[in-house]
Amino acid sequence: MSTIASNLQVVRERIATAAKAAGREPGDIALLAVSKTFAQSAVRAAYAAGQREFGENYVQEAIEKIAGLSDLQLVWHFIGPIQSNKTRAIAEHFDWVHSVAREKIAVRLAEARPAGRNPLDICLQVNVSGEASKSGVNPEEVGALAEAVRALPRLRLRGLMAIPEPTNDIALQRRRCVDLRQLLLQLNAAGYGLDTLSMGMSQDLEAAVTEGATIVRIGTAVFGERKRA
Ligand SMILES: *Cc1c(COP(=O)(O)O)cnc(C)c1O
Repeated sequence: MSTIASNLQVVRERIATAAKAAGREPGDIALLAVSKTFAQSAVRAAYAAGQREFGENYVQEAIEKIAGLSDLQLVWHFIGPIQSNKTRAIAEHFDWVHSVAREKIAVRLAEARPAGRNPLDICLQVNVSGEASKSGVNPEEVGALAEAVRALPRLRLRGLMAIPEPTNDIALQRRRCVDLRQLLLQLNAAGYGLDTLSMGMSQDLEAAVTEGATIVRIGTAVFGERKRA
């Protein structure tokens, strides 16, 4: 078995163990393999081990990878910071975008999404870490952003995403995840019908699954340490 295949098996077991301990169905948590900085061959190895959903952060790198792997049936998620001059490429090449934090970016994604394709699935990135993080919309502004995004054509608002500050403190990991879940519940109480909580990385996977993650985004634990950010 390849290293990536055995890593995937370990990660799937971590998800299943955390899910069962929380009284959840392991099948309700999707594993997104974050392949940024790794070669197409690594994605092929993961595919051979049954992985179908992949996450990327850098547009140029991702587009080359997506083109080189077009013989495989893969689902691509954009999870990195979004510059407005990259919205067209993102809207044309990806199935999901997890990192929408500004209305202007959402408008550009909607304009650029090809009419013949499925709506682009969207998560709003929320800053649940306050001063410890700069990226994501502030929790108080999520409602207004959700309302704006919901009104746009060719986008389908699916849920919320967060990248909490890295910490080994399990209680803090869980608190950040609870905060994101509470925001999702508030939106759903207002009728949004959102089904996605994108939270949990290699270090805080268990906390995220315990607190309701429906997509975990795992890089290092699947592909190994990255040589660059
Ligand atoms: C890189 C990255 C991940 C994966 O992080 P690991 O700690 O390597 O699992 C997940 N989400 C986002 C947004 C990332 O940029």
